[in-house]
Amino acid sequence: MTATLFSPPSEEVYPAPIKSVEPNSPAARAGVRPGDQLLRVNGQAVTDVLAYRHLLSQGEATLEISRPAKVPFFATPQDHHTVKAGGEAQTEPVQTFLFTVEWEDPGLDFEEVLFDGIKKCANKCDFCYVHQMPRGFRKSLYIMDDDYRLSFLYGSFVTLTNLSEHDIGRIIDENLSPLYVSVHTANQELRRDMMKWWRLKVKDPQATQIQGMIERLEGIDLYTQIVLLPGRNDGDNFDETMEYLSTRPNVISAAVVPIGLTEHRKNLPDVRTFTPHEARDLLKRANVWREKLLAERGTRFIFPSDEFYLLAGEPLPPEDAYEGFPMLENGVGMIRDFLNEGLPPLPTRLDTPRKVILGTGLLFAESLDLAVEPLRAIEGLEIEVRAVENLTFGKVTSVAGLLTGRCFRAAVKPGEADVLIVPPTTLRYGTELMIDNTSLDDLRTALKMDVRPGGSTLGELARVILEGALSSGPQFGMSVHAVKEGAVKASTVKEGAVKAGMVNTPFQS
Ligand code: SF4
Repeated sequence: MTATLFSPPSEEVYPAPIKSVEPNSPAARAGVRPGDQLLRVNGQAVTDVLAYRHLLSQGEATLEISRPAKVPFFATPQDHHTVKAGGEAQTEPVQTFLFTVEWEDPGLDFEEVLFDGIKKCANKCDFCYVHQMPRGFRKSLYIMDDDYRLSFLYGSFVTLTNLSEHDIGRIIDENLSPLYVSVHTANQELRRDMMKWWRLKVKDPQATQIQGMIERLEGIDLYTQIVLLPGRNDGDNFDETMEYLSTRPNVISAAVVPIGLTEHRKNLPDVRTFTPHEARDLLKRANVWREKLLAERGTRFIFPSDEFYLLAGEPLPPEDAYEGFPMLENGVGMIRDFLNEGLPPLPTRLDTPRKVILGTGLLFAESLDLAVEPLRAIEGLEIEVRAVENLTFGKVTSVAGLLTGRCFRAAVKPGEADVLIVPPTTLRYGTELMIDNTSLDDLRTALKMDVRPGGSTLGELARVILEGALSSGPQFGMSVHAVKEGAVKASTVKEGAVKAGMVNTPFQS
């Protein structure tokens, strides 16, 4: 390992702030400190941690590090130059130095995983949730990301319509597999009609050809999703889409979710959600495919979301029918997974009697009420499942995860219970804040009772009810939202990305 001062080439770079340096690592020995920035590797600008790891995987790598000139330098500062960050010129003088590693992890942990920012989508989908969000939330919730790198790292769905030839080359060369792709329909004309991509934002028109793209990415595993709109891509079109997807060896599965609506749709196409009859039709079609594909491919392949079963009033499939729950974050199997860990041994009575309200969305209230029925036999414990209407997004939004502090304040009277338990999915990752920035403490004060997050399983929820145990359940914004808010956690990185050695845990990239 060597360290030298030098003048870098004058090309656009994306300085990557360094969060921490592993003790005794090559970077530490070269004098790199938190707050320094990575500029280039082997003279090349680096756009993200994936490109960084890819360059390191080639063997010898020379890293160029910068530090503002006002910060004391480990060697004599000589070199001042201007660095462009994301197209913006910084005029502050910086010092740079190099160090080289060979088949070694330099020991750097970066502030962000994307050094050049999140890639935005090139579409204006009829069903876009961002377009129907009420105003006034955190900016990050309005970011229309469509970034294949986040898809690989965190499992967020991408449309692939904004890819350049360079991006496609990277996916293949760096083997960014698996990716999570929003297909919606295999019919090219219908896909364009539903997604309305902006010609000016589409870098390579070929990228919008979904069948061609799936075939170009034949070496990349694809978990696909279909957002279904009644009367558009359901019915026979759904069958045609499944016919195509199920014949592609690199398509691993297709999650099917109904369009999500709010009451804030203004100047947007007229769309509606599924009727129970239509939901039953979808499940019937899906089941025909699931049986056929289980016999032919050894996988049910098509996984309708929980919402379809609830809308149709049909029983959820058993645990094994979810095949390991790969699409859990997409609302596929969350309820079955929740019910899976049954109730712990229950006491016959509580020493201190208490009334508990379980707040949840309209969609899940009935199922939750049935699930907690055995707890009602405990003497001294009064449990009420409260179906909370979504006042923020509108009654049409019936899922639990989008309930806000405002909804709970309206649904629960101050002091009417000892404890309010809210779904953990209403909380932003790593915080006690809801989507409207209401904290659990705010609710405790307003409602004059304890307020706690519930569990991601029935057993965990029972422990919260009985013992006030802390939940470790999923929270809102686990993945891409955390990136958008600069709150990246290594634990949210898809296992595949870690296994592939593309990122370290915790993000020593
Ligand atoms: S790709 Fe996603 S973010 Fe972009 S318009 Fe469509 S639904 Fe909205």
